[in-house]
Amino acid sequence: MISFPFSMAEVGPCRLCEHVRTLRLSHINPKFVYRFQKETTPTTIRSHINPNRPTQDSRKLYFLCDECEARLSRWETLFKREIYDPYHAGTFTELKYGPWFLKFAVSISWRSLKATLEVNADEVKTGRGMQPDFLSEAATAESAWRDFLLDRREHPGRFPQYFFFLDSLANSSNPDLPINFATYIHRVAASGIWHDPARGFMFTFGMLCSVAVIGVIFGPNLRSWGERIRVEKGILRMSTRVPAPTVVDMITAQANDHLTMSRSLSERQKMLDHQKLERAVSPEYLRAMAIDVVRAPRADHRIPKKRT
Ligand SMILES: [Zn+2]
Repeated sequence: MISFPFSMAEVGPCRLCEHVRTLRLSHINPKFVYRFQKETTPTTIRSHINPNRPTQDSRKLYFLCDECEARLSRWETLFKREIYDPYHAGTFTELKYGPWFLKFAVSISWRSLKATLEVNADEVKTGRGMQPDFLSEAATAESAWRDFLLDRREHPGRFPQYFFFLDSLANSSNPDLPINFATYIHRVAASGIWHDPARGFMFTFGMLCSVAVIGVIFGPNLRSWGERIRVEKGILRMSTRVPAPTVVDMITAQANDHLTMSRSLSERQKMLDHQKLERAVSPEYLRAMAIDVVRAPRADHRIPKKRT
């Protein structure tokens, strides 16, 4: 692979069309999601392939050629206009969607799967702690989703897609949920694979700030999940339905991880901010600031403020 260290491009095989082309450094989730993301912590790819291993993070990858980026962005634009923006504006009620909605969902799930497998290549290679059929099933899903995105097949096969509005879940009053649960749901963009061996589920997730796209790899019983996204057309209604327990567990685990990371990041950030301030201002001003900081009330740790 040839790389150009001073540009935002690299030549290599495009993950979608597999042609060797110039690849762009891009976010795994659609760009528009990051507008809603107020957090500064790195939580884009969260791997739970092996539930006994810690998670890994990565925000951006050289992933797609321009043509494939353009292909995905057509569905992203429709999703943003027809669902995402109205939902965030509080005006969404229902939508008769066309074939683009399933394409959009599969594009989110495919990127989550492909990127997570790639970022965790070592773990995938050894297969330690994984269910033996995981790799073959994940590879089958990846190829089914890729073929569907490239119009080589008409539907994503036995790997269906689900879409959840998460506002009512965020408002849950369950005391067992982590304190940042609502903040996590509203503000964090994350994608990855969730493996729940006890219930026999494995799925990809795209957490896109208050909504989630789930692509099922294994799922023994999906009756309680509501309606899967249809191939040709369907109706998406505003729903207060809480997702299945395995999905709620995934979100809870992500929120817990995020809380741990935010705490360690905020300690580091505090130190960096102080160093920056020391360099930028006079000692008198710094002393005055320090007094103010001591006097200031503690910020609500459940809603970390964005630092600029
Ligand atoms: Zn491509």
